[in-house]
Amino acid sequence: MSTLPPKRAAVIGGGILGVSTAVHLLRGGASVVLVTETELASGATGRSLSWLNSAGERSTPYHELRQTGIDRYRTLFAADPSREWLRFDGGLYWGKSDTLEKTKARHAYEKSHGYASHLVTIDEISAFTPNIDIGQAPDHAVFNPGEGWVSLPHLVEFLMQEFNARGGELRTNEGKASVRTDNGRATGVSTASGNTYAADTVVVACGAQTPAVVAELGVEIPQASPVSMLVVTEPAGHGVKSVLNTPRAALRPSPGGRLAVDHDWYEDQIVQQADGSYSVNDSVVKELLDEASKLIDGNPPLQPESWKMGLKPIPADGEPVLGELETVSSCFTAFTHSGATLGLIVGELLADEILTGDKHPMLSTFRPGRFSN
Ligand SMILES: Cc1cc2nc3c(=O)[nH]c(=O)nc-3n(C[C@H](O)[C@H](O)[C@H](O)COP(=O)(O)OP(=O)(O)OC[C@H]3O[C@@H](n4cnc5c(N)ncnc54)[C@H](O)[C@@H]3O)c2cc1C
Repeated sequence: MSTLPPKRAAVIGGGILGVSTAVHLLRGGASVVLVTETELASGATGRSLSWLNSAGERSTPYHELRQTGIDRYRTLFAADPSREWLRFDGGLYWGKSDTLEKTKARHAYEKSHGYASHLVTIDEISAFTPNIDIGQAPDHAVFNPGEGWVSLPHLVEFLMQEFNARGGELRTNEGKASVRTDNGRATGVSTASGNTYAADTVVVACGAQTPAVVAELGVEIPQASPVSMLVVTEPAGHGVKSVLNTPRAALRPSPGGRLAVDHDWYEDQIVQQADGSYSVNDSVVKELLDEASKLIDGNPPLQPESWKMGLKPIPADGEPVLGELETVSSCFTAFTHSGATLGLIVGELLADEILTGDKHPMLSTFRPGRFSN
């Protein structure tokens, strides 16, 4: 049992990483204030494909963290498999100009480290997952039965019920927040709206703004966050179950019979306006949904209900940036690509480090200090 005194933590950022860390801190007995610029889920969390996966190649520690992340979602799923916002119906993948050799190599790599992976022929797809128009598929694809998806705004709402029940303090519409320090130690948060929150630990979970927030402390975290867009369709009677990753559209079901659709081929057609917001020509949204429709049995017409644009947080070296800053003690960062897959586990492990003072071995290669070495 920990003999450490209870913590007072301030978490900056109302996306999935901030909310998850806040809830895990509350579970561990800390008192928590969660401070965010506008509303909850206003950043990447509100416009994410949120495919829960560790498909393809990456470093072994990152793969292991993602697999553990999926495990935590499976636990949540098992507690109530009827939730419309968290499903595990697998993922189907085929790549751009993938030769049979390349598809086989992806499958063999996944198999080699125990990632559930099937090499399927075009005729076998319907036996693995329903309602795909196989006319678009190449001869072979990869099906990963252990994958799933989550709707992050629903997850945030779900976690916030616990946050409130455990007495967490939420401060929205605070404008930009900064970390306050004294003698190289975080002492709290001050916000553009003029408020100050004292704390003995601060967590910076500001998505693509995380590097800017820690830059004020003299800490450099390089990023390579691209601009992105997620389109959510009107209810479409599509019958699709799995997440689909294909050369011109990635999609997943979304609550209420909708689909969530994204890709990267239109990145350079998204334009940033003088006020910082983003816009894109309607024809791009239409083209993306036309591509998505081609993947679905019967090719149902898909109408956009919403499309949201903004940065997709990605550290420059592609690996998560998690843990205490080397030069500012008691200030932690939670900044990562694939923050949907990692949403629950990152909150759990960071809260554990903050509450126990013990460095978690699963985070050892992801420390923010690696950029200053
Ligand atoms: C199009 C798209 C597709 C994606 N697909 C997947 C996927 O398939 N699988 C997967 O695992 N992940 C995916 N992701 C990534 C995942 O969604 C993100 O990693 C995750 O949502 C990031 O959460 P976050 O809490 O770090 O940041 P955010 O959700 O961006 O939240 C940060 C919050 O901090 C606030 N903030 C910023 N600066 C300040 C400040 N100075 N003071 C106060 N508040 C501040 C912002 O307003 C925002 O609300 C995708 C993301 C996008 C955009």
